[in-house]
Amino acid sequence: MRRYSITRALGLPEYKVSEVRSELGGLQIRVEPYKRKPFICSGCGEVHVGKINSRKTVAADDLGLFGQRVRLIVVKRRMRCPRDGRLYVESVAWLKPRARVTDRFAEDVYRLTSITTNTEAGWYLGIDDERVYRIDLETLEELAKKKLEPTPAAENMSVDEVAWRKYYRYLTNVIDVDARRVIWNSMGRTSEVLDRYYDSIGTENCVRIKSVALDGAMTYISSTSNKARNAVIVYDKFHVVQKLNTTVDTVRKLELRKARKEDRTDLINLMGCKQRFVLLKKKENLSDGQKDHLARLCALNEPIYKAMLLKDGFLEVYTKPDESSAEECLNSWIAQAASSGIPAFAALAEKFRNKARYILNWFKNRISSAISEGINNKIKRLKRMAYGYRNARYFLLKIHQHCGLLSPRFSP
Ligand SMILES: [Zn+2]
Repeated sequence: MRRYSITRALGLPEYKVSEVRSELGGLQIRVEPYKRKPFICSGCGEVHVGKINSRKTVAADDLGLFGQRVRLIVVKRRMRCPRDGRLYVESVAWLKPRARVTDRFAEDVYRLTSITTNTEAGWYLGIDDERVYRIDLETLEELAKKKLEPTPAAENMSVDEVAWRKYYRYLTNVIDVDARRVIWNSMGRTSEVLDRYYDSIGTENCVRIKSVALDGAMTYISSTSNKARNAVIVYDKFHVVQKLNTTVDTVRKLELRKARKEDRTDLINLMGCKQRFVLLKKKENLSDGQKDHLARLCALNEPIYKAMLLKDGFLEVYTKPDESSAEECLNSWIAQAASSGIPAFAALAEKFRNKARYILNWFKNRISSAISEGINNKIKRLKRMAYGYRNARYFLLKIHQHCGLLSPRFSP
């Protein structure tokens, strides 16, 4: 095949092929700029005209050609910059500045890493994890500059914390509820962290926020009531139910410990870790076998029976037609839970008493819990995919890539 045809097939603007070699596993193609190509200085970014001082080459991976891997040897010219008198190589528009790949190769990496693990993406493209990481990070950083600045604002938003590492390291996600996307995130979960989001969108956007759904954390509540003054603050149903389930599970663990001490094999089998879903699932989703299981457990253990009653009782609140009847239902539930004799539920009653207003605000703004739940699940999956998030910044960007504005699926 003629060099000219390969030049056409490669389609790199203003560059021609000067040599093609077969090497192990693919093609090595040397490309150099046409003489008429303007010299764009990597120092100042401007076009210079003058004498070429010298040349150097850099290797860069490119997309495969004719079913073979392609490694480009790119000739870069060097020239003295009239601005500061120093030597600079030219910048090449279709090369990533740091990652030693072409833009289009990086684009493929980015598209693959948005659907699968770095290891699998690397296997497919024939590069190691470390390179995938570098290319991915560089691409995401570039996209973040374009799409996450200035900070996007939303009228209806939701704030969520995510544990991202052992030892209770958390990050905060802000979600645009209408677009169903993460629009901002940062390490930490203090009110100062959320304050930074509100500050970055500016007062005008803050005033326009209509509703903020959150997980009940006082830090988020106080930041939001200070900064987004017109917003209805809703203690998200998804998180309320989650709290309820954690409390049921606390009771289960306690009773299991007791049963073990007393050697109650019947109870231990009914309450083991594998069985906990019977207690946490929605009743209507239980199979007949599971319903039977639950009935036996409730018959044998009073605290668990009570806990299940309290859980069902609470869910009643959400079936009420309006806020005032819900309030009545909630207040009587709080009284019941407080006097239930189950410490975990008494503590929960206290928490819900303090936040009743926000729980009831759900009736003013019935934000679907499916959004929080969906994004939570995606992030869980992301964590399981084990990219080796060696740094927090990378993890924050990956969340945007998988659940937010940096997803290739949402790109215009
Ligand atoms: Zn220059």
